[in-house]
Amino acid sequence: MIPYGRQSISEVDIQAVVDVLRSDYLTQGLVVPQFEQAVADYVGASYGVAVNSGTSALHIACLALGLGEGDWLWTSPITFVASSNCGLYCDAKVDFVDIDAQTFNMSVTALECKLQEAEKRGVLPKIVVPVHFAGQSCDMQAIGRLAKRYGFYVIEDACHAIGGQYQEEFIGSGRYSDITVFSFHPVKIITTAEGGMAMTNQPLLAEKMQLLRSHGITRDVDKMTHHPDGAWYYQQIDLGFNYRMTELQAALGLSQLSRIAGFIKRRQQVARQYQKLLVNLPVDYQRSAESDGSAWHLFVIRLHLEQMKLSHQQVFNALRKSNIGVNLHYIPVHLQPYYQQLGFKRGDFPEAENYYQEAISLPLFFELSDADIRSVVECLKTILS
Ligand SMILES: *Cc1c(COP(=O)(O)O)cnc(C)c1O
Repeated sequence: MIPYGRQSISEVDIQAVVDVLRSDYLTQGLVVPQFEQAVADYVGASYGVAVNSGTSALHIACLALGLGEGDWLWTSPITFVASSNCGLYCDAKVDFVDIDAQTFNMSVTALECKLQEAEKRGVLPKIVVPVHFAGQSCDMQAIGRLAKRYGFYVIEDACHAIGGQYQEEFIGSGRYSDITVFSFHPVKIITTAEGGMAMTNQPLLAEKMQLLRSHGITRDVDKMTHHPDGAWYYQQIDLGFNYRMTELQAALGLSQLSRIAGFIKRRQQVARQYQKLLVNLPVDYQRSAESDGSAWHLFVIRLHLEQMKLSHQQVFNALRKSNIGVNLHYIPVHLQPYYQQLGFKRGDFPEAENYYQEAISLPLFFELSDADIRSVVECLKTILS
Protein backbone atom coordinates (compact mmCIF):
# COMPACT_ATOMS: atom_id res chain seq x y z
CA MET A 1 0.00 0.00 0.00
CA ILE A 2 1.34 3.45 -0.90
CA PRO A 3 0.31 5.47 2.19
CA TYR A 4 -1.12 8.99 1.85
CA GLY A 5 1.68 10.35 3.99
CA ARG A 6 4.71 9.14 5.86
CA GLN A 7 7.77 10.48 7.64
CA SER A 8 11.31 10.44 6.30
CA ILE A 9 13.89 9.51 8.95
CA SER A 10 17.59 9.65 8.01
CA GLU A 11 20.59 8.09 9.75
CA VAL A 12 21.54 11.60 10.88
CA ASP A 13 18.07 12.01 12.48
CA ILE A 14 18.55 8.71 14.29
CA GLN A 15 22.03 9.65 15.50
CA ALA A 16 20.70 12.96 16.86
CA VAL A 17 18.17 11.09 19.01
CA VAL A 18 20.74 8.50 20.14
CA ASP A 19 23.11 11.29 21.20
CA VAL A 20 20.43 12.69 23.50
CA LEU A 21 19.71 9.23 24.92
CA ARG A 22 23.38 9.01 25.97
CA SER A 23 23.35 12.52 27.47
CA ASP A 24 22.41 13.73 30.96
CA TYR A 25 18.99 15.16 30.13
CA LEU A 26 16.06 13.43 28.49
CA THR A 27 13.75 16.34 29.30
CA GLN A 28 14.15 19.97 30.39
CA GLY A 29 17.69 20.30 29.02
CA LEU A 30 19.17 22.56 26.38
CA VAL A 31 17.93 20.91 23.17
CA VAL A 32 14.30 22.08 23.44
CA PRO A 33 15.35 25.76 23.68
CA GLN A 34 17.71 25.20 20.73
CA PHE A 35 14.89 23.75 18.68
CA GLU A 36 12.60 26.66 19.65
CA GLN A 37 15.23 29.18 18.60
CA ALA A 38 15.90 27.34 15.33
CA VAL A 39 12.21 27.27 14.33
CA ALA A 40 11.77 30.92 15.36
CA ASP A 41 14.80 31.91 13.25
CA TYR A 42 13.61 29.83 10.32
CA VAL A 43 10.08 31.28 10.15
CA GLY A 44 11.06 34.78 11.26
CA ALA A 45 9.21 34.90 14.59
CA SER A 46 10.54 36.24 17.89
CA TYR A 47 9.55 33.29 20.10
CA GLY A 48 8.73 29.59 19.81
CA VAL A 49 7.18 27.59 22.64
CA ALA A 50 7.65 23.84 22.07
CA VAL A 51 5.03 21.45 23.41
CA ASN A 52 4.05 17.78 23.17
CA SER A 53 1.54 18.24 20.31
CA GLY A 54 -0.04 20.71 17.94
CA THR A 55 -3.24 20.27 19.93
CA SER A 56 -1.51 21.35 23.16
CA ALA A 57 -0.09 24.36 21.33
CA LEU A 58 -3.60 25.38 20.24
CA HIS A 59 -4.88 24.93 23.80
CA ILE A 60 -2.26 27.11 25.48
CA ALA A 61 -2.49 29.66 22.66
CA CYS A 62 -6.20 30.08 23.40
CA LEU A 63 -5.57 30.34 27.15
CA ALA A 64 -2.76 32.85 26.69
CA LEU A 65 -5.15 35.05 24.71
CA GLY A 66 -7.62 34.86 27.59
CA LEU A 67 -10.28 32.70 25.95
CA GLY A 68 -12.85 31.58 28.51
CA GLU A 69 -16.49 31.02 29.32
CA GLY A 70 -18.84 33.25 27.35
CA ASP A 71 -16.30 33.84 24.57
CA TRP A 72 -16.52 32.62 20.97
CA LEU A 73 -13.87 30.93 18.86
CA TRP A 74 -14.45 30.59 15.11
CA THR A 75 -12.59 28.30 12.73
CA SER A 76 -13.04 26.40 9.46
CA PRO A 77 -15.21 23.27 9.34
CA ILE A 78 -12.70 21.58 7.00
CA THR A 79 -9.96 20.87 9.50
CA PHE A 80 -8.89 18.39 12.11
CA VAL A 81 -11.11 18.48 15.21
CA ALA A 82 -8.28 19.97 17.30
CA SER A 83 -8.73 23.40 15.64
CA SER A 84 -12.11 23.81 17.34
CA ASN A 85 -11.71 21.51 20.36
CA CYS A 86 -9.16 23.98 21.74
CA GLY A 87 -12.01 26.48 22.17
CA LEU A 88 -14.15 23.93 24.00
CA TYR A 89 -11.24 23.06 26.35
CA CYS A 90 -11.40 26.70 27.50
CA ASP A 91 -15.19 26.55 28.06
CA ALA A 92 -15.68 28.92 25.15
CA LYS A 93 -18.33 28.49 22.47
CA VAL A 94 -17.29 27.41 18.99
CA ASP A 95 -18.64 28.33 15.58
CA PHE A 96 -17.47 27.82 12.01
CA VAL A 97 -16.98 29.91 8.89
CA ASP A 98 -17.64 28.12 5.60
CA ILE A 99 -14.82 27.41 3.16
CA ASP A 100 -13.99 28.80 -0.24
CA ALA A 101 -14.81 26.20 -2.92
CA GLN A 102 -11.53 26.78 -4.79
CA THR A 103 -8.90 27.17 -2.05
CA PHE A 104 -10.63 24.92 0.56
CA ASN A 105 -9.56 27.54 3.13
CA MET A 106 -11.86 29.68 5.28
CA SER A 107 -13.73 32.05 2.95
CA VAL A 108 -12.91 35.66 3.76
CA THR A 109 -16.23 36.76 2.23
CA ALA A 110 -18.12 34.36 4.50
CA LEU A 111 -16.06 35.56 7.46
CA GLU A 112 -16.86 39.19 6.75
CA CYS A 113 -20.61 38.46 6.40
CA LYS A 114 -20.64 36.48 9.63
CA LEU A 115 -18.76 39.24 11.46
CA GLN A 116 -21.28 41.87 10.31
CA GLU A 117 -24.12 39.71 11.63
CA ALA A 118 -22.30 38.94 14.88
CA GLU A 119 -21.58 42.62 15.48
CA LYS A 120 -25.30 43.43 15.22
CA ARG A 121 -26.09 40.75 17.77
CA GLY A 122 -23.18 41.72 20.01
CA VAL A 123 -21.53 38.29 19.84
CA LEU A 124 -18.24 38.90 18.03
CA PRO A 125 -15.61 36.16 18.35
CA LYS A 126 -12.66 36.63 20.67
CA ILE A 127 -10.45 34.39 18.54
CA VAL A 128 -10.56 33.34 14.88
CA VAL A 129 -8.46 30.33 13.86
CA PRO A 130 -7.75 30.28 10.12
CA VAL A 131 -6.36 26.89 9.04
CA HIS A 132 -3.76 26.85 6.26
CA PHE A 133 -5.34 23.85 4.63
CA ALA A 134 -2.92 21.38 3.02
CA GLY A 135 -0.11 23.90 3.61
CA GLN A 136 -1.55 26.78 1.63
CA SER A 137 -1.86 30.06 3.49
CA CYS A 138 -5.23 31.68 4.03
CA ASP A 139 -5.66 35.27 2.87
CA MET A 140 -3.98 36.55 6.03
CA GLN A 141 -3.78 40.18 4.99
CA ALA A 142 -7.57 40.32 4.62
CA ILE A 143 -8.11 38.37 7.85
CA GLY A 144 -5.69 40.68 9.67
CA ARG A 145 -7.64 43.70 8.41
CA LEU A 146 -10.90 42.19 9.71
CA ALA A 147 -9.20 41.41 13.05
CA LYS A 148 -8.39 45.11 13.48
CA ARG A 149 -11.84 46.22 12.37
CA TYR A 150 -13.76 43.80 14.61
CA GLY A 151 -11.25 43.41 17.44
CA PHE A 152 -10.57 39.69 17.53
CA TYR A 153 -7.32 37.76 18.02
CA VAL A 154 -5.95 35.49 15.31
CA ILE A 155 -4.33 32.08 15.87
CA GLU A 156 -3.04 30.61 12.61
CA ASP A 157 -3.46 26.83 12.61
CA ALA A 158 -0.39 26.14 10.50
CA CYS A 159 -0.18 22.46 11.47
CA HIS A 160 0.04 21.63 7.74
CA ALA A 161 2.17 24.54 6.78
CA ILE A 162 5.65 24.88 8.27
CA GLY A 163 7.93 25.77 5.37
CA GLY A 164 5.09 27.29 3.38
CA GLN A 165 5.15 30.96 2.40
CA TYR A 166 2.73 33.86 2.18
CA GLN A 167 3.63 37.13 0.48
CA GLU A 168 7.21 35.86 0.26
CA GLU A 169 7.55 35.37 4.02
CA PHE A 170 7.48 32.07 5.85
CA ILE A 171 4.20 31.12 7.47
CA GLY A 172 4.74 31.67 11.20
CA SER A 173 6.29 35.14 10.89
CA GLY A 174 3.12 36.40 12.56
CA ARG A 175 2.74 39.52 10.44
CA TYR A 176 -1.06 39.28 10.50
CA SER A 177 -1.71 37.20 13.61
CA ASP A 178 -1.02 36.86 17.33
CA ILE A 179 0.11 33.23 17.47
CA THR A 180 0.90 30.58 14.85
CA VAL A 181 0.76 26.88 15.69
CA PHE A 182 2.73 24.05 14.07
CA SER A 183 2.36 20.26 14.47
CA PHE A 184 5.19 17.76 14.15
CA HIS A 185 3.07 14.63 13.87
CA PRO A 186 4.73 12.06 11.52
CA VAL A 187 2.47 12.82 8.55
CA LYS A 188 3.21 16.56 8.73
CA ILE A 189 6.10 18.38 7.02
CA ILE A 190 8.73 17.70 9.72
CA THR A 191 8.27 15.38 12.66
CA THR A 192 9.18 14.91 16.32
CA ALA A 193 6.85 11.85 16.53
CA GLU A 194 4.35 13.82 18.62
CA GLY A 195 5.04 17.50 19.06
CA GLY A 196 4.08 21.05 18.28
CA MET A 197 5.13 24.65 18.66
CA ALA A 198 3.42 27.99 19.16
CA MET A 199 5.14 30.99 17.54
CA THR A 200 4.59 34.61 18.56
CA ASN A 201 6.24 38.01 18.44
CA GLN A 202 4.72 39.14 21.73
CA PRO A 203 6.94 38.49 24.80
CA LEU A 204 4.01 38.36 27.24
CA LEU A 205 2.22 35.71 25.19
CA ALA A 206 5.42 33.65 24.96
CA GLU A 207 5.91 33.90 28.73
CA LYS A 208 2.32 32.91 29.44
CA MET A 209 2.53 29.89 27.14
CA GLN A 210 5.85 28.80 28.72
CA LEU A 211 4.14 28.92 32.10
CA LEU A 212 1.07 27.00 30.93
CA ARG A 213 3.03 24.15 29.33
CA SER A 214 4.65 23.33 32.67
CA HIS A 215 2.02 23.37 35.45
CA GLY A 216 1.94 27.16 35.78
CA ILE A 217 5.17 26.91 37.75
CA THR A 218 7.87 29.60 37.71
CA ARG A 219 11.42 29.77 39.02
CA ASP A 220 11.67 33.44 38.07
CA VAL A 221 11.99 35.46 41.31
CA ASP A 222 10.45 38.54 39.69
CA LYS A 223 7.19 36.64 39.15
CA MET A 224 6.93 35.24 42.68
CA THR A 225 4.66 36.69 45.35
CA HIS A 226 7.53 36.75 47.85
CA HIS A 227 11.23 36.10 48.13
CA PRO A 228 12.20 32.41 47.59
CA ASP A 229 12.27 30.26 50.72
CA GLY A 230 15.56 28.77 49.49
CA ALA A 231 17.48 27.53 46.49
CA TRP A 232 14.93 24.72 45.95
CA TYR A 233 12.04 27.12 45.67
CA TYR A 234 9.51 27.47 42.86
CA GLN A 235 6.00 28.86 42.80
CA GLN A 236 2.83 27.83 41.04
CA ILE A 237 1.25 31.08 39.96
CA ASP A 238 -1.24 29.77 37.39
CA LEU A 239 -3.01 26.49 36.58
CA GLY A 240 -0.99 24.85 33.80
CA PHE A 241 -0.39 21.40 32.38
CA ASN A 242 2.44 19.05 31.60
CA TYR A 243 2.62 19.75 27.86
CA ARG A 244 6.43 19.69 27.67
CA MET A 245 8.36 18.38 24.66
CA THR A 246 11.20 15.95 25.48
CA GLU A 247 14.85 16.45 24.54
CA LEU A 248 14.63 13.38 22.26
CA GLN A 249 11.80 14.95 20.32
CA ALA A 250 13.57 18.29 20.06
CA ALA A 251 16.75 16.60 18.78
CA LEU A 252 14.73 14.85 16.09
CA GLY A 253 12.99 18.14 15.30
CA LEU A 254 16.28 20.03 14.96
CA SER A 255 17.65 17.40 12.64
CA GLN A 256 14.43 17.35 10.59
CA LEU A 257 14.40 21.13 10.41
CA SER A 258 17.85 21.06 8.77
CA ARG A 259 16.25 18.98 5.97
CA ILE A 260 13.11 21.08 5.52
CA ALA A 261 14.10 22.89 2.31
CA GLY A 262 14.48 19.51 0.57
CA PHE A 263 11.19 18.26 2.01
CA ILE A 264 9.28 21.27 0.71
CA LYS A 265 10.98 21.22 -2.69
CA ARG A 266 10.05 17.58 -3.24
CA ARG A 267 6.47 18.11 -2.03
CA GLN A 268 6.08 20.98 -4.49
CA GLN A 269 7.47 18.79 -7.29
CA VAL A 270 5.02 16.01 -6.46
CA ALA A 271 2.11 18.47 -6.48
CA ARG A 272 3.18 19.88 -9.86
CA GLN A 273 3.46 16.36 -11.28
CA TYR A 274 -0.05 15.53 -10.11
CA GLN A 275 -1.40 18.78 -11.55
CA LYS A 276 0.20 17.98 -14.91
CA LEU A 277 -0.90 14.35 -15.04
CA LEU A 278 -4.49 15.02 -13.88
CA VAL A 279 -5.13 17.53 -16.61
CA ASN A 280 -7.63 15.52 -18.66
CA LEU A 281 -9.40 13.83 -15.79
CA PRO A 282 -12.77 14.94 -14.37
CA VAL A 283 -11.22 16.15 -11.13
CA ASP A 284 -10.27 19.46 -9.57
CA TYR A 285 -7.51 20.28 -7.15
CA GLN A 286 -6.77 23.06 -4.67
CA ARG A 287 -6.34 26.45 -6.34
CA SER A 288 -4.18 29.15 -4.87
CA ALA A 289 -4.37 32.89 -5.24
CA GLU A 290 -0.68 33.20 -4.42
CA SER A 291 2.23 32.08 -6.52
CA ASP A 292 2.80 28.59 -5.17
CA GLY A 293 4.07 29.04 -1.63
CA SER A 294 2.20 26.00 -0.32
CA ALA A 295 4.06 23.51 1.87
CA TRP A 296 1.90 20.84 0.17
CA HIS A 297 1.08 18.72 3.20
CA LEU A 298 -1.81 17.19 1.26
CA PHE A 299 -2.86 16.83 -2.36
CA VAL A 300 -6.65 16.77 -2.41
CA ILE A 301 -8.70 16.14 -5.53
CA ARG A 302 -12.41 16.81 -5.89
CA LEU A 303 -14.34 14.48 -8.18
CA HIS A 304 -16.69 15.89 -10.81
CA LEU A 305 -19.28 13.30 -9.87
CA GLU A 306 -21.75 14.48 -12.51
CA GLN A 307 -19.22 13.38 -15.14
CA MET A 308 -18.78 9.82 -13.86
CA LYS A 309 -20.80 6.69 -13.27
CA LEU A 310 -19.16 5.82 -9.97
CA SER A 311 -19.92 7.32 -6.59
CA HIS A 312 -17.37 9.07 -4.40
CA GLN A 313 -17.21 6.04 -2.15
CA GLN A 314 -16.75 3.65 -5.08
CA VAL A 315 -13.81 5.66 -6.44
CA PHE A 316 -12.28 5.83 -2.96
CA ASN A 317 -12.70 2.08 -2.37
CA ALA A 318 -11.34 1.20 -5.84
CA LEU A 319 -8.19 3.23 -5.11
CA ARG A 320 -7.73 1.54 -1.74
CA LYS A 321 -8.26 -1.85 -3.41
CA SER A 322 -5.47 -0.97 -5.84
CA ASN A 323 -3.17 -0.48 -2.84
CA ILE A 324 -3.27 3.28 -2.95
CA GLY A 325 -3.72 4.53 0.59
CA VAL A 326 -5.98 7.44 -0.17
CA ASN A 327 -7.64 9.28 2.68
CA LEU A 328 -10.21 12.00 3.25
CA HIS A 329 -9.28 15.29 4.90
CA TYR A 330 -11.62 16.12 6.50
CA ILE A 331 -15.06 15.14 7.69
CA PRO A 332 -16.60 18.59 8.36
CA VAL A 333 -16.14 19.11 12.10
CA HIS A 334 -19.73 20.33 12.59
CA LEU A 335 -21.00 16.93 11.35
CA GLN A 336 -19.18 15.02 14.10
CA PRO A 337 -21.66 13.58 16.61
CA TYR A 338 -20.09 15.54 19.47
CA TYR A 339 -20.65 18.79 17.56
CA GLN A 340 -24.15 17.79 16.44
CA GLN A 341 -24.92 17.43 20.12
CA LEU A 342 -23.82 21.05 20.53
CA GLY A 343 -26.52 22.05 18.05
CA PHE A 344 -24.83 22.06 14.65
CA LYS A 345 -26.87 20.63 11.78
CA ARG A 346 -26.35 19.27 8.31
CA GLY A 347 -26.75 22.23 5.94
CA ASP A 348 -25.04 24.73 8.26
CA PHE A 349 -21.91 25.01 6.08
CA PRO A 350 -22.87 23.97 2.53
CA GLU A 351 -19.50 24.52 0.82
CA ALA A 352 -17.77 22.37 3.40
CA GLU A 353 -20.42 19.69 2.99
CA ASN A 354 -20.13 19.76 -0.83
CA TYR A 355 -16.39 19.43 -0.46
CA TYR A 356 -16.84 16.38 1.76
CA GLN A 357 -18.97 14.68 -0.93
CA GLU A 358 -16.14 14.92 -3.48
CA ALA A 359 -12.74 15.08 -1.79
CA ILE A 360 -9.99 12.44 -1.81
CA SER A 361 -6.39 12.94 -0.58
CA LEU A 362 -3.83 11.32 -2.88
CA PRO A 363 -0.48 10.08 -1.53
CA LEU A 364 1.98 12.93 -0.99
CA PHE A 365 5.20 12.65 1.00
CA PHE A 366 8.93 13.26 0.62
CA GLU A 367 9.94 9.75 -0.39
CA LEU A 368 7.10 9.21 -2.88
CA SER A 369 8.76 8.32 -6.21
CA ASP A 370 7.90 9.60 -9.69
CA ALA A 371 6.89 6.04 -10.57
CA ASP A 372 4.49 6.02 -7.61
CA ILE A 373 2.93 9.29 -8.78
CA ARG A 374 2.42 7.90 -12.27
CA SER A 375 0.92 4.69 -10.94
CA VAL A 376 -1.50 6.62 -8.70
CA VAL A 377 -2.71 8.67 -11.66
CA GLU A 378 -2.85 5.65 -14.00
CA CYS A 379 -4.91 3.83 -11.45
CA LEU A 380 -7.29 6.77 -11.08
CA LYS A 381 -7.60 6.99 -14.88
CA THR A 382 -8.51 3.29 -15.13
CA ILE A 383 -11.10 3.60 -12.38
CA LEU A 384 -12.70 6.70 -13.91
CA SER A 385 -12.77 5.38 -17.50
C1 LIG B 1 -2.43 17.64 12.93
C2 LIG B 1 -3.30 18.79 13.14
C3 LIG B 1 -3.57 19.33 14.39
C4 LIG B 1 -3.15 18.67 15.67
O1 LIG B 1 -1.81 18.41 15.74
P1 LIG B 1 -1.29 17.22 16.69
O2 LIG B 1 0.19 17.47 16.70
O3 LIG B 1 -1.66 15.93 16.01
O4 LIG B 1 -1.92 17.39 18.01
C5 LIG B 1 -4.33 20.48 14.47
N1 LIG B 1 -4.82 21.07 13.38
C6 LIG B 1 -4.61 20.57 12.15
C7 LIG B 1 -5.17 21.29 10.97
C8 LIG B 1 -3.86 19.41 11.99
O5 LIG B 1 -3.69 18.89 10.78
